[in-house]
Amino acid sequence: MPVEGKKRIFLGLLAGFVLVGAGALGLLFFFLLRGGRWEHWLVWGLAWLFGSFLVLVGVGTGGIVYSLLAQKAFRWEMPVHLALDLLFPLVSSVGHLVGLGRESVARSFIEIHNRLLRLRIGPIPPEKILLLMPHCLQWSECPHRITTDPTNCRRCGRCLVKNLLEICEEYGTTLAMATGGSIARQIIWERRPQAVVAVACERDLTSGLQDTYPLAVWGIVNLRPEGYCRNTGVDLDKVREAIRYFMQGG
Ligand code: SF4
Repeated sequence: MPVEGKKRIFLGLLAGFVLVGAGALGLLFFFLLRGGRWEHWLVWGLAWLFGSFLVLVGVGTGGIVYSLLAQKAFRWEMPVHLALDLLFPLVSSVGHLVGLGRESVARSFIEIHNRLLRLRIGPIPPEKILLLMPHCLQWSECPHRITTDPTNCRRCGRCLVKNLLEICEEYGTTLAMATGGSIARQIIWERRPQAVVAVACERDLTSGLQDTYPLAVWGIVNLRPEGYCRNTGVDLDKVREAIRYFMQGG
């Protein structure tokens, strides 16, 4: 299953949203002015409010495109955060309406999120980098309880927990296994890492990336040879790559 995201999917939807919104707003202003209904102050107020929102989203969308093309972080982070993180649920729904799969929109969002993250991080010491993995990565028949302590793994090699422990030893990072989104947030809250390499399915990853902003969280979509939530995997090269980005500062 391909897990690479195409940046143009999310950006195209975002630009479409701004254009359609601007068109609707233009029409609304046109009818308000033509009808001379200055007394409809509530409609005017809402129109100006929506117009300001659209301008911010437009600036944010432009900021994302600028950052991706110039490989420089856009100075004004707020509109970028608005266009990327806060509008994701809406953009995802619009994508679904026009026939795009929610997973492909989510992968596009994650790809853009990671690219922008690289532009705003400084070097981070490895002990401050947390590898946050889903519990379904553990072999489903394994009797060892690794959610409380991943070092309970006997390293039999039936699943990738062994490899992830080796990666942690190689780089000096730490590993945690989460049984769900709220546990993942709790782990982050308790350990207070400076950076997180998070692996999960598209749905959990997108909500986690939005919720944890502005923490530096690198998202990697898991591999699911047996479907959701059972014996899942991850591309270990991508995990190593993310750790190196954090350690080098982008
Ligand atoms: S590698 Fe570790 S977690 Fe995976 S099946 Fe073996 S003992 Fe269990």
